[in-house]
Amino acid sequence: QAAADRFSARNPRSAALHAEAVNSMPGGNTRTTLHTSPFPVYMRSGRDFRVTSEDGHVYTDFVGEFTAGLYGHSHPVIVEAMRECVATTGLNLGAQTAHEVTYSRALCERFGLERVRFTNSGTEANLHALAAARAFTGKRKVVVFGGGYHGGVLGFVGGKPGRNNVDLADWVVVDGGYNDIDKATEAIRGEGVAAVLVEGVQGSAGAIAGSFEFMRCIQIAAKEAGVLFILDEVMTSRLSPGGIADLYKLEPDLRTMGKWLGGGLASGMLGGRADVMAAFDPRSPGALTHGGTFNNNTLAMYVGHAGLSKIYTPEACVQLNKIGDDFRNRLAGLTKGTKLCFTGVGSLLASHFTDEGLQEIVREVPENAQLKDLFWYEMLEDGFWLVRRGNISLILGTDEGELNRFCESVAAFLERHGDLV
Ligand code: PLP
Repeated sequence: QAAADRFSARNPRSAALHAEAVNSMPGGNTRTTLHTSPFPVYMRSGRDFRVTSEDGHVYTDFVGEFTAGLYGHSHPVIVEAMRECVATTGLNLGAQTAHEVTYSRALCERFGLERVRFTNSGTEANLHALAAARAFTGKRKVVVFGGGYHGGVLGFVGGKPGRNNVDLADWVVVDGGYNDIDKATEAIRGEGVAAVLVEGVQGSAGAIAGSFEFMRCIQIAAKEAGVLFILDEVMTSRLSPGGIADLYKLEPDLRTMGKWLGGGLASGMLGGRADVMAAFDPRSPGALTHGGTFNNNTLAMYVGHAGLSKIYTPEACVQLNKIGDDFRNRLAGLTKGTKLCFTGVGSLLASHFTDEGLQEIVREVPENAQLKDLFWYEMLEDGFWLVRRGNISLILGTDEGELNRFCESVAAFLERHGDLV
Protein backbone atom coordinates (compact mmCIF):
# COMPACT_ATOMS: atom_id res chain seq x y z
CA GLN A 1 0.00 0.00 0.00
CA ALA A 2 2.87 2.36 0.79
CA ALA A 3 4.25 1.83 -2.72
CA ALA A 4 0.81 2.47 -4.24
CA ASP A 5 0.52 5.69 -2.25
CA ARG A 6 3.93 6.83 -3.45
CA PHE A 7 2.83 6.03 -7.01
CA SER A 8 -0.23 8.26 -6.66
CA ALA A 9 1.83 11.05 -5.12
CA ARG A 10 4.44 10.89 -7.89
CA ASN A 11 1.97 10.98 -10.75
CA PRO A 12 -0.67 13.68 -10.16
CA ARG A 13 -0.88 14.75 -13.80
CA SER A 14 -1.57 11.13 -14.90
CA ALA A 15 -4.27 10.91 -12.24
CA ALA A 16 -5.86 14.11 -13.55
CA LEU A 17 -5.76 12.90 -17.17
CA HIS A 18 -7.35 9.64 -16.13
CA ALA A 19 -10.10 11.48 -14.29
CA GLU A 20 -10.79 13.40 -17.49
CA ALA A 21 -10.52 10.33 -19.75
CA VAL A 22 -13.28 8.41 -17.98
CA ASN A 23 -15.75 11.02 -19.26
CA SER A 24 -15.13 10.13 -22.90
CA MET A 25 -13.85 6.52 -22.88
CA PRO A 26 -15.20 3.63 -20.79
CA GLY A 27 -12.84 3.37 -17.84
CA GLY A 28 -10.82 6.09 -19.55
CA ASN A 29 -9.36 3.35 -21.70
CA THR A 30 -9.14 2.21 -25.30
CA ARG A 31 -6.55 -0.58 -24.91
CA THR A 32 -7.45 -2.95 -22.10
CA THR A 33 -3.83 -4.02 -21.61
CA LEU A 34 -2.80 -0.49 -20.69
CA HIS A 35 -5.17 -0.05 -17.79
CA THR A 36 -3.49 -0.17 -14.38
CA SER A 37 -5.03 0.65 -11.07
CA PRO A 38 -5.40 3.12 -9.43
CA PHE A 39 -4.80 4.87 -12.79
CA PRO A 40 -2.48 4.39 -15.74
CA VAL A 41 0.73 6.34 -16.28
CA TYR A 42 0.35 8.80 -19.15
CA MET A 43 3.37 9.22 -21.41
CA ARG A 44 4.18 12.48 -23.10
CA SER A 45 7.03 11.60 -25.45
CA GLY A 46 9.70 9.12 -26.41
CA ARG A 47 13.25 9.42 -27.64
CA ASP A 48 15.49 6.48 -28.58
CA PHE A 49 15.03 3.95 -25.76
CA ARG A 50 13.51 6.36 -23.26
CA VAL A 51 10.03 7.68 -22.58
CA THR A 52 9.00 10.72 -20.57
CA SER A 53 5.75 10.75 -18.65
CA GLU A 54 3.25 13.57 -18.33
CA ASP A 55 4.49 13.83 -14.76
CA GLY A 56 7.99 14.56 -16.00
CA HIS A 57 9.63 11.24 -15.08
CA VAL A 58 12.10 9.82 -17.58
CA TYR A 59 12.08 6.05 -17.95
CA THR A 60 14.14 3.46 -19.76
CA ASP A 61 11.51 1.90 -21.97
CA PHE A 62 11.34 -1.85 -21.36
CA VAL A 63 7.73 -2.04 -22.56
CA GLY A 64 8.96 -1.51 -26.09
CA GLU A 65 5.33 -1.15 -27.18
CA PHE A 66 4.71 -4.81 -26.41
CA THR A 67 7.41 -5.84 -28.95
CA ALA A 68 6.23 -3.48 -31.70
CA GLY A 69 8.59 -0.72 -30.56
CA LEU A 70 11.70 -2.56 -31.65
CA TYR A 71 13.19 0.51 -33.34
CA GLY A 72 12.72 2.74 -30.33
CA HIS A 73 11.36 6.24 -30.54
CA SER A 74 12.11 8.35 -33.60
CA HIS A 75 14.83 6.17 -35.09
CA PRO A 76 16.43 8.38 -37.78
CA VAL A 77 15.97 5.79 -40.54
CA ILE A 78 12.29 5.41 -39.69
CA VAL A 79 11.73 9.17 -39.47
CA GLU A 80 13.48 9.71 -42.80
CA ALA A 81 11.46 6.93 -44.47
CA MET A 82 8.24 8.51 -43.20
CA ARG A 83 9.24 11.90 -44.56
CA GLU A 84 10.26 10.44 -47.90
CA CYS A 85 7.04 8.51 -48.25
CA VAL A 86 4.81 11.43 -47.38
CA ALA A 87 6.76 13.78 -49.65
CA THR A 88 7.05 11.52 -52.69
CA THR A 89 4.13 9.12 -52.57
CA GLY A 90 1.58 10.73 -50.31
CA LEU A 91 -0.72 8.74 -48.09
CA ASN A 92 -3.15 6.20 -49.43
CA LEU A 93 -3.84 6.36 -53.15
CA GLY A 94 -6.89 4.11 -53.32
CA ALA A 95 -4.86 1.76 -55.45
CA GLN A 96 -2.10 -0.79 -55.37
CA THR A 97 1.41 0.61 -55.25
CA ALA A 98 4.91 -0.55 -56.00
CA HIS A 99 5.64 -0.26 -52.24
CA GLU A 100 3.52 -3.29 -51.41
CA VAL A 101 5.16 -5.32 -54.17
CA THR A 102 8.59 -4.49 -52.78
CA TYR A 103 7.64 -5.18 -49.18
CA SER A 104 5.76 -8.42 -49.86
CA ARG A 105 8.73 -9.77 -51.77
CA ALA A 106 11.12 -8.81 -48.96
CA LEU A 107 8.90 -10.50 -46.38
CA CYS A 108 8.59 -13.68 -48.46
CA GLU A 109 12.37 -13.84 -48.80
CA ARG A 110 13.18 -13.06 -45.19
CA PHE A 111 10.63 -15.40 -43.61
CA GLY A 112 10.45 -18.13 -46.25
CA LEU A 113 6.81 -17.46 -47.17
CA GLU A 114 5.38 -18.40 -50.56
CA ARG A 115 2.66 -15.74 -50.44
CA VAL A 116 1.78 -12.95 -48.03
CA ARG A 117 -1.16 -10.57 -47.49
CA PHE A 118 -1.23 -7.43 -45.40
CA THR A 119 -3.66 -6.45 -42.65
CA ASN A 120 -3.86 -3.61 -40.12
CA SER A 121 -3.05 -5.65 -37.05
CA GLY A 122 -1.97 -9.00 -35.72
CA THR A 123 -5.53 -9.70 -34.63
CA GLU A 124 -6.79 -9.31 -38.17
CA ALA A 125 -3.95 -11.41 -39.52
CA ASN A 126 -5.05 -14.27 -37.25
CA LEU A 127 -8.72 -13.87 -38.12
CA HIS A 128 -7.93 -14.07 -41.83
CA ALA A 129 -5.53 -16.97 -41.35
CA LEU A 130 -8.31 -18.89 -39.62
CA ALA A 131 -10.69 -18.07 -42.48
CA ALA A 132 -8.14 -19.40 -44.96
CA ALA A 133 -7.66 -22.61 -42.94
CA ARG A 134 -11.41 -23.16 -42.79
CA ALA A 135 -11.79 -22.57 -46.51
CA PHE A 136 -8.91 -24.92 -47.27
CA THR A 137 -9.95 -27.80 -45.00
CA GLY A 138 -13.73 -27.39 -45.07
CA LYS A 139 -13.66 -27.77 -41.27
CA ARG A 140 -14.34 -25.23 -38.53
CA LYS A 141 -12.73 -25.99 -35.19
CA VAL A 142 -9.53 -24.37 -34.06
CA VAL A 143 -7.22 -25.77 -31.39
CA VAL A 144 -5.62 -23.12 -29.18
CA PHE A 145 -3.79 -23.24 -25.85
CA GLY A 146 -4.61 -21.84 -22.44
CA GLY A 147 -2.50 -18.73 -21.91
CA GLY A 148 -2.50 -18.06 -25.66
CA TYR A 149 -3.17 -14.58 -26.94
CA HIS A 150 -3.85 -14.01 -30.61
CA GLY A 151 -5.47 -10.60 -30.51
CA GLY A 152 -8.11 -8.42 -28.93
CA VAL A 153 -10.95 -10.80 -29.82
CA LEU A 154 -8.81 -13.94 -29.75
CA GLY A 155 -7.59 -14.22 -26.17
CA PHE A 156 -7.24 -17.38 -24.07
CA VAL A 157 -5.25 -16.06 -21.15
CA GLY A 158 -6.56 -17.80 -18.06
CA GLY A 159 -7.40 -20.89 -20.11
CA LYS A 160 -10.77 -19.73 -21.43
CA PRO A 161 -11.88 -17.82 -24.51
CA GLY A 162 -12.31 -14.13 -23.74
CA ARG A 163 -15.96 -13.11 -23.41
CA ASN A 164 -15.72 -11.10 -26.61
CA ASN A 165 -14.11 -13.88 -28.64
CA VAL A 166 -15.57 -14.51 -32.06
CA ASP A 167 -17.05 -17.91 -32.99
CA LEU A 168 -17.09 -19.04 -29.39
CA ALA A 169 -18.36 -22.54 -30.15
CA ASP A 170 -15.54 -23.42 -32.49
CA TRP A 171 -12.58 -23.19 -30.13
CA VAL A 172 -10.94 -26.22 -28.63
CA VAL A 173 -8.99 -24.64 -25.77
CA VAL A 174 -6.33 -26.98 -24.42
CA ASP A 175 -6.17 -25.60 -20.90
CA GLY A 176 -2.84 -26.17 -19.21
CA GLY A 177 -1.79 -27.81 -22.46
CA TYR A 178 0.98 -25.50 -23.56
CA ASN A 179 4.12 -27.64 -23.69
CA ASP A 180 2.01 -30.75 -23.01
CA ILE A 181 2.56 -32.94 -26.05
CA ASP A 182 -0.08 -35.56 -25.20
CA LYS A 183 -2.87 -33.05 -24.60
CA ALA A 184 -1.96 -31.11 -27.73
CA THR A 185 -1.83 -34.19 -29.93
CA GLU A 186 -5.17 -35.46 -28.66
CA ALA A 187 -6.86 -32.13 -29.37
CA ILE A 188 -5.38 -31.85 -32.85
CA ARG A 189 -6.65 -35.35 -33.72
CA GLY A 190 -10.20 -34.40 -32.69
CA GLU A 191 -13.22 -34.30 -35.01
CA GLY A 192 -13.70 -31.34 -37.34
CA VAL A 193 -10.45 -29.50 -36.60
CA ALA A 194 -9.35 -27.05 -39.30
CA ALA A 195 -6.29 -25.58 -37.63
CA VAL A 196 -4.07 -25.38 -34.61
CA LEU A 197 -3.11 -21.80 -33.75
CA VAL A 198 -0.12 -21.46 -31.43
CA GLU A 199 2.63 -19.07 -30.36
CA GLY A 200 6.23 -20.27 -30.26
CA VAL A 201 6.61 -18.19 -27.10
CA GLN A 202 3.43 -17.38 -25.22
CA GLY A 203 3.85 -13.63 -24.91
CA SER A 204 0.87 -12.43 -22.92
CA ALA A 205 1.04 -15.42 -20.61
CA GLY A 206 4.48 -14.13 -19.59
CA ALA A 207 7.10 -14.91 -22.24
CA ILE A 208 6.86 -18.66 -21.80
CA ALA A 209 8.83 -20.56 -24.41
CA GLY A 210 7.30 -23.48 -26.23
CA SER A 211 9.79 -26.33 -26.09
CA PHE A 212 11.38 -27.43 -29.31
CA GLU A 213 9.81 -30.91 -28.90
CA PHE A 214 6.35 -29.45 -28.26
CA MET A 215 6.44 -27.28 -31.36
CA ARG A 216 7.75 -30.13 -33.51
CA CYS A 217 5.07 -32.49 -32.22
CA ILE A 218 2.34 -29.98 -33.04
CA GLN A 219 3.68 -29.77 -36.56
CA ILE A 220 3.79 -33.56 -36.94
CA ALA A 221 0.37 -34.17 -35.37
CA ALA A 222 -1.21 -31.46 -37.53
CA LYS A 223 0.27 -32.89 -40.70
CA GLU A 224 -0.92 -36.41 -39.88
CA ALA A 225 -4.43 -35.18 -39.10
CA GLY A 226 -4.76 -32.89 -42.13
CA VAL A 227 -5.00 -29.91 -39.78
CA LEU A 228 -3.31 -26.64 -40.70
CA PHE A 229 -0.48 -25.53 -38.43
CA ILE A 230 -0.72 -21.75 -37.96
CA LEU A 231 2.21 -20.25 -36.10
CA ASP A 232 1.43 -16.91 -34.50
CA GLU A 233 4.67 -14.97 -34.91
CA VAL A 234 3.21 -11.58 -34.08
CA MET A 235 5.66 -11.34 -31.18
CA THR A 236 8.28 -13.92 -32.12
CA SER A 237 9.15 -12.82 -35.65
CA ARG A 238 11.88 -10.66 -34.12
CA LEU A 239 13.65 -13.52 -32.35
CA SER A 240 15.78 -14.69 -35.24
CA PRO A 241 16.35 -13.46 -38.81
CA GLY A 242 13.59 -15.77 -40.07
CA GLY A 243 11.44 -15.68 -36.94
CA ILE A 244 10.97 -18.48 -34.46
CA ALA A 245 10.06 -20.89 -37.26
CA ASP A 246 13.63 -20.46 -38.45
CA LEU A 247 15.07 -20.77 -34.94
CA TYR A 248 13.16 -24.01 -34.29
CA LYS A 249 13.35 -25.22 -37.91
CA LEU A 250 9.55 -25.41 -38.19
CA GLU A 251 7.50 -25.44 -41.37
CA PRO A 252 4.11 -24.03 -40.46
CA ASP A 253 1.42 -23.93 -43.13
CA LEU A 254 0.67 -20.31 -42.27
CA ARG A 255 2.30 -17.66 -40.13
CA THR A 256 0.93 -14.42 -38.81
CA MET A 257 3.02 -11.38 -37.97
CA GLY A 258 2.78 -7.67 -37.30
CA LYS A 259 4.04 -5.38 -34.54
CA TRP A 260 7.55 -4.10 -35.45
CA LEU A 261 7.10 -5.07 -39.09
CA GLY A 262 5.02 -1.94 -39.63
CA GLY A 263 8.03 0.16 -38.67
CA GLY A 264 6.01 1.62 -35.81
CA LEU A 265 2.78 1.98 -37.81
CA ALA A 266 -0.32 -0.18 -37.53
CA SER A 267 0.27 -3.29 -39.56
CA GLY A 268 -0.05 -7.05 -39.76
CA MET A 269 0.46 -9.82 -42.23
CA LEU A 270 -0.34 -13.46 -42.84
CA GLY A 271 1.58 -15.70 -45.14
CA GLY A 272 2.77 -19.17 -45.98
CA ARG A 273 1.78 -21.92 -48.40
CA ALA A 274 0.70 -20.67 -51.81
CA ASP A 275 -2.07 -23.28 -52.12
CA VAL A 276 -3.64 -22.19 -48.81
CA MET A 277 -3.18 -18.47 -49.47
CA ALA A 278 -4.82 -19.00 -52.87
CA ALA A 279 -8.11 -18.86 -50.97
CA PHE A 280 -7.75 -15.07 -51.21
CA ASP A 281 -6.92 -14.89 -54.93
CA PRO A 282 -9.56 -12.51 -56.30
CA ARG A 283 -9.15 -13.99 -59.76
CA SER A 284 -10.80 -17.22 -58.56
CA PRO A 285 -14.53 -17.55 -58.27
CA GLY A 286 -15.53 -18.03 -54.66
CA ALA A 287 -12.38 -16.41 -53.26
CA LEU A 288 -12.49 -15.21 -49.67
CA THR A 289 -13.01 -11.50 -49.31
CA HIS A 290 -10.12 -9.85 -47.61
CA GLY A 291 -10.78 -6.15 -47.60
CA GLY A 292 -9.28 -3.44 -45.43
CA THR A 293 -8.95 0.16 -46.51
CA PHE A 294 -5.53 0.48 -44.90
CA ASN A 295 -4.19 -3.04 -45.61
CA ASN A 296 -1.63 -1.71 -48.08
CA ASN A 297 -1.32 1.81 -46.71
CA THR A 298 1.70 3.43 -48.26
CA LEU A 299 3.35 4.50 -45.03
CA ALA A 300 3.37 1.08 -43.38
CA MET A 301 4.55 -0.58 -46.61
CA TYR A 302 7.37 1.89 -47.17
CA VAL A 303 8.47 2.42 -43.59
CA GLY A 304 8.07 -1.25 -42.68
CA HIS A 305 10.33 -2.19 -45.55
CA ALA A 306 12.90 0.46 -44.63
CA GLY A 307 13.07 -0.91 -41.09
CA LEU A 308 13.38 -4.53 -42.18
CA SER A 309 15.98 -3.91 -44.85
CA LYS A 310 18.03 -1.09 -43.32
CA ILE A 311 17.81 -1.49 -39.55
CA TYR A 312 16.77 -4.94 -38.40
CA THR A 313 19.11 -6.80 -40.68
CA PRO A 314 19.83 -10.46 -39.87
CA GLU A 315 23.03 -9.31 -38.10
CA ALA A 316 21.22 -6.70 -35.99
CA CYS A 317 18.60 -9.30 -35.10
CA VAL A 318 21.13 -11.89 -33.95
CA GLN A 319 22.94 -9.26 -31.88
CA LEU A 320 19.84 -7.94 -30.11
CA ASN A 321 18.67 -11.41 -29.19
CA LYS A 322 22.09 -12.31 -27.86
CA ILE A 323 21.98 -9.22 -25.65
CA GLY A 324 18.58 -10.42 -24.42
CA ASP A 325 19.85 -13.91 -23.66
CA ASP A 326 22.84 -12.54 -21.75
CA PHE A 327 20.58 -10.16 -19.82
CA ARG A 328 18.20 -12.98 -18.82
CA ASN A 329 21.12 -15.19 -17.77
CA ARG A 330 22.43 -12.43 -15.52
CA LEU A 331 18.97 -11.95 -14.01
CA ALA A 332 18.68 -15.70 -13.46
CA GLY A 333 21.93 -15.60 -11.49
CA LEU A 334 20.71 -12.70 -9.37
CA THR A 335 17.31 -14.17 -8.58
CA LYS A 336 18.34 -17.75 -7.87
CA GLY A 337 16.65 -19.13 -4.78
CA THR A 338 14.02 -16.36 -4.67
CA LYS A 339 10.39 -16.18 -5.78
CA LEU A 340 11.38 -13.91 -8.63
CA CYS A 341 12.34 -15.42 -11.96
CA PHE A 342 12.68 -14.26 -15.56
CA THR A 343 11.43 -16.28 -18.50
CA GLY A 344 11.62 -15.72 -22.25
CA VAL A 345 13.69 -16.15 -25.37
CA GLY A 346 16.18 -13.68 -26.83
CA SER A 347 14.99 -10.09 -26.61
CA LEU A 348 11.63 -11.02 -24.99
CA LEU A 349 11.57 -11.48 -21.23
CA ALA A 350 9.06 -11.52 -18.41
CA SER A 351 9.32 -11.44 -14.65
CA HIS A 352 7.28 -13.77 -12.47
CA PHE A 353 6.80 -14.15 -8.75
CA THR A 354 5.85 -17.70 -7.92
CA ASP A 355 5.68 -19.31 -4.51
CA GLU A 356 7.55 -22.32 -5.83
CA GLY A 357 10.36 -20.05 -7.00
CA LEU A 358 10.20 -21.94 -10.28
CA GLN A 359 13.09 -21.36 -12.58
CA GLU A 360 11.59 -23.30 -15.45
CA ILE A 361 8.08 -22.26 -16.19
CA VAL A 362 6.42 -24.19 -18.99
CA ARG A 363 2.89 -22.79 -18.90
CA GLU A 364 0.88 -19.92 -17.46
CA VAL A 365 1.64 -19.76 -13.73
CA PRO A 366 -0.30 -18.49 -10.72
CA GLU A 367 1.50 -15.32 -9.76
CA ASN A 368 2.03 -13.67 -6.45
CA ALA A 369 0.10 -10.57 -7.48
CA GLN A 370 1.10 -8.36 -4.57
CA LEU A 371 4.80 -8.91 -5.09
CA LYS A 372 4.32 -8.31 -8.78
CA ASP A 373 2.68 -4.95 -8.10
CA LEU A 374 5.35 -4.00 -5.60
CA PHE A 375 8.05 -4.81 -8.14
CA TRP A 376 6.32 -2.68 -10.78
CA TYR A 377 5.93 0.31 -8.47
CA GLU A 378 9.51 0.17 -7.29
CA MET A 379 11.01 -0.35 -10.75
CA LEU A 380 9.07 2.73 -11.90
CA GLU A 381 10.63 4.65 -9.02
CA ASP A 382 14.03 3.49 -10.26
CA GLY A 383 13.22 4.78 -13.76
CA PHE A 384 12.21 1.61 -15.62
CA TRP A 385 9.02 1.53 -17.65
CA LEU A 386 7.74 -2.06 -17.50
CA VAL A 387 4.54 -3.86 -18.41
CA ARG A 388 2.72 -4.35 -15.13
CA ARG A 389 2.24 -8.05 -15.78
CA GLY A 390 6.03 -8.29 -16.13
CA ASN A 391 6.89 -8.39 -19.83
CA ILE A 392 10.03 -6.74 -21.13
CA SER A 393 10.80 -6.36 -24.81
CA LEU A 394 14.17 -4.87 -25.58
CA ILE A 395 14.55 -1.90 -27.88
CA LEU A 396 17.42 -1.75 -30.36
CA GLY A 397 20.26 0.43 -29.11
CA THR A 398 19.25 0.32 -25.43
CA ASP A 399 22.28 1.51 -23.50
CA GLU A 400 24.09 -1.40 -21.89
CA GLY A 401 24.52 0.76 -18.80
CA GLU A 402 20.74 0.66 -18.38
CA LEU A 403 20.73 -3.13 -18.44
CA ASN A 404 23.40 -3.10 -15.73
CA ARG A 405 21.42 -0.56 -13.76
CA PHE A 406 18.30 -2.75 -13.99
CA CYS A 407 20.26 -5.72 -12.63
CA GLU A 408 21.40 -3.53 -9.73
CA SER A 409 17.83 -2.41 -9.13
CA VAL A 410 16.60 -6.00 -9.08
CA ALA A 411 19.36 -6.97 -6.64
CA ALA A 412 18.47 -4.02 -4.39
CA PHE A 413 14.77 -4.97 -4.54
CA LEU A 414 15.57 -8.52 -3.42
CA GLU A 415 17.78 -7.19 -0.66
CA ARG A 416 15.13 -4.74 0.50
CA HIS A 417 12.35 -7.32 0.54
CA GLY A 418 14.34 -10.38 1.56
CA ASP A 419 11.59 -11.36 4.01
CA LEU A 420 8.96 -11.45 1.24
CA VAL A 421 10.79 -12.90 -1.71
N1 PLP B 1 -0.74 -12.43 -31.54
C1 PLP B 1 0.13 -12.25 -30.55
C2 PLP B 1 1.03 -13.38 -30.17
C3 PLP B 1 0.21 -11.04 -29.89
O1 PLP B 1 1.06 -10.88 -28.87
C4 PLP B 1 -0.64 -9.98 -30.29
C5 PLP B 1 -0.59 -8.67 -29.62
O2 PLP B 1 -0.05 -8.48 -28.58
C6 PLP B 1 -1.53 -10.21 -31.33
C7 PLP B 1 -1.55 -11.43 -31.95
C8 PLP B 1 -2.45 -9.12 -31.80
O3 PLP B 1 -1.79 -8.16 -32.52
P1 PLP B 1 -2.42 -6.68 -32.60
O4 PLP B 1 -2.36 -6.10 -31.25
O5 PLP B 1 -1.57 -5.99 -33.62
O6 PLP B 1 -3.82 -6.86 -33.09
